[in-house]
Amino acid sequence: MSHRIAVVGGGPAGLTFARVLHRHDRPVTVLERDPGPDARPPGGTLDLHDKLGQLALDKAGLLAEFRALSRPEGQAMRILDVDGTVLRDWRPRPDEQANPEIDRGQLRDLLLGPLDVRWGRGVAEVVPGTRDGVLVRFADGRQETFDLVVGADGAWSRVRPALSSVRPHYTGVTLVESSLDDVDTRHPDLARLIGDGSVAVYGVNRALVAQRNSGGHVKVYAQFRAPLDWHTDLERHLGLNRRAPLSPGLSPGLSPGLSPGLSPGLDGGRDAGLDPGLGRGLDLADVEAVRSSLLALFDGWAAPVLGLLRHGTAFVHRPLYVLPVSHTWAHVPGVTLLGDAAHLMPPLGVGANLAMLEGAELAESVAACGPGDPDEAVRAFEEHMWARAGRWAKMTAAGLERLVSPDPADALALFDEVQPS
Ligand SMILES: Cc1cc2nc3c(=O)[nH]c(=O)nc-3n(C[C@H](O)[C@H](O)[C@H](O)COP(=O)(O)OP(=O)(O)OC[C@H]3O[C@@H](n4cnc5c(N)ncnc54)[C@H](O)[C@@H]3O)c2cc1C
Repeated sequence: MSHRIAVVGGGPAGLTFARVLHRHDRPVTVLERDPGPDARPPGGTLDLHDKLGQLALDKAGLLAEFRALSRPEGQAMRILDVDGTVLRDWRPRPDEQANPEIDRGQLRDLLLGPLDVRWGRGVAEVVPGTRDGVLVRFADGRQETFDLVVGADGAWSRVRPALSSVRPHYTGVTLVESSLDDVDTRHPDLARLIGDGSVAVYGVNRALVAQRNSGGHVKVYAQFRAPLDWHTDLERHLGLNRRAPLSPGLSPGLSPGLSPGLSPGLDGGRDAGLDPGLGRGLDLADVEAVRSSLLALFDGWAAPVLGLLRHGTAFVHRPLYVLPVSHTWAHVPGVTLLGDAAHLMPPLGVGANLAMLEGAELAESVAACGPGDPDEAVRAFEEHMWARAGRWAKMTAAGLERLVSPDPADALALFDEVQPS
């Protein structure tokens, strides 16, 4: 009789695990809290590295389909100074396959393929070591037992407490995410600013990043250092109660050659439109109040750059949490973790990649055990995962310090160190 295997979470980690098991003709139950695949917006674009996420897709037999969907041109990266001067403008070769981009929704659909996901099955708790195996308790009160439960349920995992009492902590950096739709026709100036891939602008303890997704959709991330409760008192936490004088010499234009010819009215840097109520708390659900606060926070930056905020639609508050760099646990037979549930780290382009590769590797290890007990294989996988994830966690933690840093030159230096020439 084959083992009863469940994976909790239908994100990149869980779906890759299930898809590789499926390829090896091993049954697996995917338990996902969302009521359906389109229950919420899937999130921004992901770059999949050739030696991580793409390797995982190869193990799932999906690399060719990925190549057909992905956007190699999306690897382009432009860095501007806060005055709009172009500091770097890196474009990939047409055949560059190191880190092509794919929309998360496309990746999810690719991985879902023939998988039979149990949607709307939020897990509340996992109890290892019962007489019949590992007990899974669902949020709706139902329960079921399995021989192996894989927690791929992300940052706030409900499986993790069965193995570890550690909880994620705030990094001191917050993202506020916004979006632009149909950018090429509705905001051609911004489309030119962003180019085929991403544009990033680094200032003192803050950054603005815009990333092109497919279909003219753009995700914009305002990033800044602030206490977790920054929005409760903007004056105290961000010093936003008064008009900050513009730094001398700031120009709202772009460098020659990139001048986007902005329409009048995008004069963001000159008048951030400060709300008289900014000294008080900010209602994060109030789109115009959030926009106004962000424009005040980025006051003095070039008008074309601030256009990314002026035209953003909804704003989503995403404080960045991480698990400790070397998060491990004492092995417990029948339960393990993958992806963000195991090693949540700053979003510097590697979390989904690791999650997928771990999913693929664990699936291959379990499949290789045939009808035998996979426990030793799971234990060996954990050791391997901890060592690799620990290295990336250290690198991404240091990277976040440099990208949202008191010295913007640090961010540029990091780009020069990691960007392929
Ligand atoms: C702004 C931003 C940009 C990023 N960009 C990149 C990038 O370019 N490249 C990259 O590699 N990484 C990137 N990351 C990181 C990446 O998003 C994560 O590392 C990755 O999604 C982790 O995958 P996962 O499957 O472990 O978890 P998740 O993607 O969080 O998936 C977890 C799944 O579990 C489900 N779930 C949660 N709780 C339960 C429950 N109790 N019961 C059942 N199901 C549950 C969720 O609904 C979800 O479907 C970025 C992150 C952010 C925030």
